[in-house]
Amino acid sequence: MIVMKFGGTSVESREAIQRVAGIVCARLERKPVVVVSAMGKTTNKLLAIAGAAVRGEREAALSQLEELRAFHLCESIGVETEIELHFTELGELVRGLAVMGEMTPRAVDAVSSFGERISSIIAAEIFRRCGVNATHLDSRQFIVTDARHTQAAPLFEETNRRLAAIPKMPGVVVMGGFIGSTTDGVTTTLGRGGSDYTAAIVGAGIGAEEIQIWTDVDGMLTADPTLLPGGYRVKTCSFAEAAELAYFGAKVLHPATVLPAIEKNIPVRILNSRRPEVEGTLILAEAPACSSAIRSIACKRNITLLNVVSTRMLMAHGFLRRIFDVFDRFETPVDMLATSEVSVSLTIDNTRALDAIRAELEKFAQVTVEEDQAIVCLVGDHIRASPGVAARVFGAIPQINVRMISQGASLLNISFVVAAADLEQAVESLHKEFFSNPDPAAFE
Ligand code: ADP
Ligand code: ASP
Ligand code: MG
Repeated sequence: MIVMKFGGTSVESREAIQRVAGIVCARLERKPVVVVSAMGKTTNKLLAIAGAAVRGEREAALSQLEELRAFHLCESIGVETEIELHFTELGELVRGLAVMGEMTPRAVDAVSSFGERISSIIAAEIFRRCGVNATHLDSRQFIVTDARHTQAAPLFEETNRRLAAIPKMPGVVVMGGFIGSTTDGVTTTLGRGGSDYTAAIVGAGIGAEEIQIWTDVDGMLTADPTLLPGGYRVKTCSFAEAAELAYFGAKVLHPATVLPAIEKNIPVRILNSRRPEVEGTLILAEAPACSSAIRSIACKRNITLLNVVSTRMLMAHGFLRRIFDVFDRFETPVDMLATSEVSVSLTIDNTRALDAIRAELEKFAQVTVEEDQAIVCLVGDHIRASPGVAARVFGAIPQINVRMISQGASLLNISFVVAAADLEQAVESLHKEFFSNPDPAAFE
């Protein structure tokens, strides 16, 4: 069996879903299970509608909702009644939010789940009309999670127990990504971009031979194409490289995707639904060696840098524990870290609790905050065995002020922080340095 996950652009319209049906049809002998995202930008739209409702812009919210309803009805075929029922339920929810004027994470999940709930129904029916014997499943009955709404984590034992029924089902199973539910049946989501993760959870749960992530680019590219067009396709990379790239901003893969794959050693392939003939990127436990130390350059925007300094801490212990305790209490993950005896620099991308964190830290240290920063992260399994990579990295960007540097303990990445305004220039210079003559065995 294989799992085939199709992202938002791959299922953005009836026509796009028909194209997907063709791709699935051509692989029926591998017994595909299909995971779909919400159509196009539906999740963003749902969140905007909920946001407008709680701000008291009730009419705007309802008119955007009507637009979304009309769009889904127009792109679907044969499932109008079911879609109408979903929009009725969603309408009630949105009206409720407008009355309440506030939104809990649980309500965010309730609203944003509709994208995948609806797209999976539409896709299953279009598949049937294209001759694929499709069985629709409500993912919420299979992906069981904890109750950390908007960032829920799967409870693997129960999830796997339920997923075990799938291989016995007839035809092609079609299910929505991103969504799940608690053991009490309350709807949850796995976090933005989480349909990739669903595909991996399902793949590991059913013991698939491959997990395919079908998207709108040819595979993992050597640089983020929204920042630097013209990067090369990475033919193969390792699980570790893919995880690192995803974590540091390569949006093409949700950061948690490779974890279930690693556990069961299932290859992951990134493919382009507009160009199914392209081989894509194959992600394996170990990638074949290549002459380049760097496999790809990822970057993360909207980063905030905090410098925490306390001379009182000279020769004292417990400084780091005290700092991390604060971030822990405010449930804010720290991305990058550099330390000296009396100071710590670190980056966060979730600034929800920044003011409170700052106030707590200022009880025992001086804190400066620099917003509008970006992380650049060069990833490659062979960095550790290639002397002189750091010299090449920083030699390539002599004109750029590097704010912080870190080379992970894994030794497969070199990351540094620059002002967001310098990001494009930094990536362009680095790409020229490392990929002006790419090894044809590894890149295309
Ligand atoms: P989907 O809706 O299929 O899940 P996403 O928008 O989540 O698609 O991810 C695909 C996008 O990831 C690409 O269109 C591209 O802009 C972005 N991306 C960022 N970094 C990379 C990279 N290194 N390689 C390929 N795509 C990247
Ligand atoms: N639809 C969800 C999102 O936009 C999940 C996904 O597409 O992976 O975040
Ligand atoms: Mg995605």
